[in-house]
Amino acid sequence: MSTTTYLIKNASVLGGAPTDLLVRDGSIAEVGSLGAVEGAVELDAAGLIALPGLVDLHTHLREPGREDAETVDTGTRAAALGGFTAVHAMANTDPVADTAGVVEQVWRLGREAGFCDVFPIGAVTVGLAGERLAELGAMADSAARVRVFSDDGKCVSDANLMRRALEYVKAFDGVIAQHAQEPRLTEGAQMNEGELSGVLGLAGWPAVAEEAIIARDILLAAHTESRLHVCHVSTAGSVELIRWAKSKGWPVTAEVTPHHLILTEDLVTGYDPIYKVNPPLRTAADVEALRAGLADGTIDAVATDHAPHPHEDKDCEWAAAAMGMLGLETALSVVQATMVDSGLMTWAEVADRMSARPARIGQIDDRHGRPLAAGEPANLVLVDPAATRTVDRTALASLSQNTPYQGMELPGAVVATFLRGTPTVLDGKLA
Ligand SMILES: [Zn+2]
Repeated sequence: MSTTTYLIKNASVLGGAPTDLLVRDGSIAEVGSLGAVEGAVELDAAGLIALPGLVDLHTHLREPGREDAETVDTGTRAAALGGFTAVHAMANTDPVADTAGVVEQVWRLGREAGFCDVFPIGAVTVGLAGERLAELGAMADSAARVRVFSDDGKCVSDANLMRRALEYVKAFDGVIAQHAQEPRLTEGAQMNEGELSGVLGLAGWPAVAEEAIIARDILLAAHTESRLHVCHVSTAGSVELIRWAKSKGWPVTAEVTPHHLILTEDLVTGYDPIYKVNPPLRTAADVEALRAGLADGTIDAVATDHAPHPHEDKDCEWAAAAMGMLGLETALSVVQATMVDSGLMTWAEVADRMSARPARIGQIDDRHGRPLAAGEPANLVLVDPAATRTVDRTALASLSQNTPYQGMELPGAVVATFLRGTPTVLDGKLA
């Protein structure tokens, strides 16, 4: 391999004392106080934090089928700009990623784009219809080597199917990522159920609809001794249930989205569909519990649930609008604002929740989420924590513009992202 050699000077690895990193032939060759290296391009990283490349467990890339909202190419550009070197692509495409053929197509598109590694998630049930199991084994054995399975967007609400899926993926240490939403309790639901939904006259989405499925599924995970991952936890009660499951030593992990760490249901008051999302924005008390759960490790990972939608699906009345918001290009800034600048988490803990643990959950920790040490693959991101930026939806790399942070000032900026030693982002721009 004959790629450029980079000497990164005075970076603060995981927020520690400044040091140098030599990046050569796809790997981190040396870490420490290094002299000049012949032929190396020097990058001045004074004041910048170095983290392992971020790993997203929950990205909607929309291809195949909704290339008007996002493509693998545009979505992975957004990911690289957000500091990600790996994303897991959700299965609710058209056609659904429920066969070896479709997951291999997504995997190939990711390789062709080259901005970050794309790991397809396989559907749990055929067509996300919740009726019979998809070909989980064939997807696991495919070139895409699928380890995460999810019907995300829909809940695997049939307890027997959920049990069988958990039993099936044990053979290859797979994991079922559940979108926990009891369908009968959320028919027609539009926003968090509470005082405010009554005032606004919107059908409520009770916390118990999420918590009832999580309670059932953690018991199924214990019973089958198979791995359950809970997608986008949004209520204080959900955090309590996961804390309880972990106290029992059961194989349960969970993620929280950036938007559920910072936004609350009060934003719905203006009926602007930009704030319509599944699961819905909750209360300030829920946000506080989610932050505490992420800080103490009950919640393993931050996952974006990046959900691009074109104008026509969002610029309409609340009831008709699609659910979901962008996340890749703002995730790290939101985590800095809510968790680091607030003193709840260190940068080392950010690396754990946004890189190491999601890589382990996705079974890609042989390549991603590694320590920044000699001999490891050079997947890393340099962040300027002192920078601030005002979010401009027209300047995002995503094909869609449905960010809830339009016009907001957020801390931190991704300066550079390296994928296997090659910059995908330099000086804050795509390389
Ligand atoms: Zn979901």
